[in-house]
Amino acid sequence: MNNDPSSAPPTAARARIETVEAEITAAAERAGRDPARVKLIAVSKTFDAAQIEPVIGAGQFRFGENRVQESLAKWPGLKARHTDIELHLIGPLQSNKARDAVALFDVIHTIDRPKIAAAIAREMEQAGRAPRLLVQVNTGEEEQKAGIFPARADAFVKQCREEFGLKIEGLMCIPPLDEESALHFALLNKIAARNGLDELSMGMSADFENAVALGATYVRVGTAIFGKRG
Ligand SMILES: *Cc1c(COP(=O)(O)O)cnc(C)c1O
Repeated sequence: MNNDPSSAPPTAARARIETVEAEITAAAERAGRDPARVKLIAVSKTFDAAQIEPVIGAGQFRFGENRVQESLAKWPGLKARHTDIELHLIGPLQSNKARDAVALFDVIHTIDRPKIAAAIAREMEQAGRAPRLLVQVNTGEEEQKAGIFPARADAFVKQCREEFGLKIEGLMCIPPLDEESALHFALLNKIAARNGLDELSMGMSADFENAVALGATYVRVGTAIFGKRG
């Protein structure tokens, strides 16, 4: 018997996706929200193409990766074989990777400083390709973490729109590990509302139900779908 979920057959992948989808639906209904507003991103970082195939086979088409370099190694091939894939960049972005990111990703969740906003705007213009964009907010104000601080978020969203001509669709956060994530989700929701932003990317395997209750429109779920990362 092979107990590694990442190499389990398609039917097992389907069961895990269906479980997560059912939990999302239940959480949305408890909160009086339309479950159709919550989009599941399967976070496939560290898993290779062969491990991702069964999850695609189970009907999942929206995937998230946190590194541009790793994504370049596996997604062009997968995207060529499965034309409906929607790929999300959920990890920190360096400006020297902006071109690759614009070429490969359909949604970028991690716009977090003027230099990146400028680089993305430039590459979008060059490539004639327009990934959807979210601004990452460092709600816990952690020095080592990416994201704009909450106090600067309004001004940064405005700058993205007015100075760089970027259409920002929403906000993303990764709460501190040792804090109640609900407080961070509520803060992100508040910042989004006052900036007229519709999309909220928040919630991972451990806390996506809370995130759904607090307004998430994208949840980013890795472990609960792929199993533990090596
Ligand atoms: C890895 C990762 C996730 C998924 O985490 P799990 O706990 O495995 O669900 C979500 N968001 C980001 C930004 C990540 O890097």
